Amino acid sequence: MGLRPNLLTRRAAGVASTTLALLLSTAAVGVVPAASAFSAAPGGACAEPADSHANARVKPGAAATHEPNELTAKQVRERDADLAAALRERANFRAGAGATTLATVTIPVVVHVIQENSTRAGGNIPDSLITSQISVLNQAYAGGTGGAATAFAFRLDKINRVTNPSWYPIVDGSSAERSMKSSLRVGGKNTLNIYLGELSDDLLGWATFPQRKLSSMDGVVVLNESLPGGTATNYNQGDTGTHEVGHWLNLYHTFQGGCGGSGDSVSDTPAEASAAFECPTGRNTCSATGLDPITNFMDYTYDSCMYQFTPGQASRMLTAWNAYRAA
Ligand SMILES: [Zn+2]
Repeated sequence: MGLRPNLLTRRAAGVASTTLALLLSTAAVGVVPAASAFSAAPGGACAEPADSHANARVKPGAAATHEPNELTAKQVRERDADLAAALRERANFRAGAGATTLATVTIPVVVHVIQENSTRAGGNIPDSLITSQISVLNQAYAGGTGGAATAFAFRLDKINRVTNPSWYPIVDGSSAERSMKSSLRVGGKNTLNIYLGELSDDLLGWATFPQRKLSSMDGVVVLNESLPGGTATNYNQGDTGTHEVGHWLNLYHTFQGGCGGSGDSVSDTPAEASAAFECPTGRNTCSATGLDPITNFMDYTYDSCMYQFTPGQASRMLTAWNAYRAA
């Protein structure tokens, strides 16, 4: 959290990005959330903040002590077992259907713009950035930037502007975040609620995984200036939104689990020992076949570097949709 005021100052002052890069040069190390995060509620249904923020996207150097993105192997096993169980329980589920159906799912989107005041620095970003973000989502999930096409499209239903200084910045895991979401969240399990604002702890965003019982915490939180055309240098092409929605649709980070085990539970994303930052060339951190998937939306690289989901990720998202979010 201590980094945030400094970053604000740098942005406002227009200091060269090299200064920012220095600040960001110490790579964040994944921090395992509280051990109870998913063991208490395999579906992630628990109301504890750690459960609701089990995934995030950060810049290098972010306050690692509050970096909530990494799951333990046990949590991954529990989540995947829950996914399988949820699928079995759905009366209309046919084996394999989730992986092969390609009909488009249109997701209604409600965007809550949290503002401290009416200034741009106070969170008042223009509607044009939001409509651009929806376009970026639609392109990314249609495979329009070079990756696999997924089943998903996005329809902006509403922009809800809320001025409330006590919710700004949005602090991950705080009672204020809980209050904000409880007050603002709308729609059913299929409705994507996006909360935009300045964020705590140098986070670019965080998201909830799908779960069987709809939680008022469900949704994604995204740094307002990470939207396309925003001021977040290297992170202002809208891919934080793409990444967080990936979590909301049940994707893990490509570096989940490191080099061992089932990794991110997707077979066509090569194993990766740790998050990649910036846009490295030839990075290969695991002995298993394949270079690190640094161009995948579920890594931590610059927006300009990430442009794809894999067919396996597309399949996993649709399976999870059928299990958790479909009407
Ligand atoms: Zn993430």
